[in-house]
Amino acid sequence: LGLKTHLTSTWADSVCNIIKDLPSEEPFNDYHLRNLNLKTDSFENKDNDDLGTDVLKIQDDLAALYADLNTLNSCRRQALNDYLDLKGNIRVFCRIRPITEGEKFGSLRPVVAADSCNVVLRLSESKTKHYCFDKVFHPHSSQVEPDYVVLVTEKLTAEVFSEVEPVIKSAVDGYNACIFAYGQTGTGKTFTMEGQPDCPGIVPLAIEALFKQAADSCHSFHFTFSMLEIYMGNLRDLLIPQTAKSTDSVAQCLSVQKDPRGGIEIDNLVTIRVSDFNQAKRLYGLGSRFRSTASTNSNETSSRSHCLTRISMTCFDAPERRRETNKLWMVDLGGSERVLKTKAWGKRLDEGKAINLSLSALGDVINALQRRKSHVPYRNSKLTQVLTDSLGEDSKTLMVVHISPKEEDLCETVCSLGFAARVRSVHLGNVESI
Ligand code: ADP
Ligand code: MG
Repeated sequence: LGLKTHLTSTWADSVCNIIKDLPSEEPFNDYHLRNLNLKTDSFENKDNDDLGTDVLKIQDDLAALYADLNTLNSCRRQALNDYLDLKGNIRVFCRIRPITEGEKFGSLRPVVAADSCNVVLRLSESKTKHYCFDKVFHPHSSQVEPDYVVLVTEKLTAEVFSEVEPVIKSAVDGYNACIFAYGQTGTGKTFTMEGQPDCPGIVPLAIEALFKQAADSCHSFHFTFSMLEIYMGNLRDLLIPQTAKSTDSVAQCLSVQKDPRGGIEIDNLVTIRVSDFNQAKRLYGLGSRFRSTASTNSNETSSRSHCLTRISMTCFDAPERRRETNKLWMVDLGGSERVLKTKAWGKRLDEGKAINLSLSALGDVINALQRRKSHVPYRNSKLTQVLTDSLGEDSKTLMVVHISPKEEDLCETVCSLGFAARVRSVHLGNVESI
């Protein structure tokens, strides 16, 4: 403001405009400096020595400000990742599905109660079981007008995403990250990950946030998009149109390999460079459609496969980033219901067994990481093999365990929460004994 009084109002206004334009997260970047240089050039040509000196001073001041802000930014980055380290690199949330309109008319006895971090299950009149999470997302009321349900749902998705956002920031900072939706079929995993047209889920919101944060930073990023499904222990590329017949031959082309730098690569996986949010969103829509049309009975199969969406990012001009290239995986896991308890047989039984095995392998890996065991059993399933370099070390892991509020699902709810408690064990000591 002091300098403003020395300058012509036009020049002061253009400086103010540049400052006003600064994005809040990464307040200064090369674009603004270049813009400033251009404007100072045109002023210097006016042969006004005083003005020229002031302009140079402003340029110096702004360059110093720019350096300060860059330092501030790297402090912000450090603080965020320290904060996530403190909270734990593995965080587990629970989301309770609301009772649907149709279910309201059945005989309902509330079996799940929750506050912001705790879930209590009523197992019988006299017996309850208690679980604790990093956060619980619960339907505030199941007996509400339909219009209100929509509002609550949107709010909850926003709440879920606000917990996901720090992970997205870490991904922009070069950390690997995995976000999982776990739970029995019908508890809202796809609702949380994919969402619905009027209520987008974590994947589209995360992709949008990634592109936005990358654009606001002073660095340039390359993004690539891939999407695959793991079905009966086989990998299927979801960016290649498939028929039920072609899947076996396609599946054989994809294989998990270690790359020379110790990372994991999936040979022959289609990886498409994306330069904006809409391209990535279109590919995600395509992959989701291929997933549901690849089989004759789409709903059934989609609940018996894991759907993995991967965004890889490379940034060449930020040496302080954790990694030059890193990955964000978003995984809609297959239904966790125990197949032996259902009356499945034949192919259904095999599919169910494959899902149960891989989910238990995932639980073992996360548990070993939580307990900082020296051996982490990544090799026990395709799912954990694919995610080997993105689970553990300094990677960020977030799991949303979904449960149903219905009494008839109580057994599965106990199993899902048991899995979640095991995954989260390090924070609480021996949770299973609660
Ligand atoms: P899953 O993928 O676990 O099998 P879905 O995501 O397909 O389950 O959800 C089953 C049904 O419940 C869908 O019709 C979905 O729209 C609805 N649903 C799930 N979670 C919610 C929620 N939080 N709010 C509103 N509807 C939900
Ligand atoms: Mg689903």
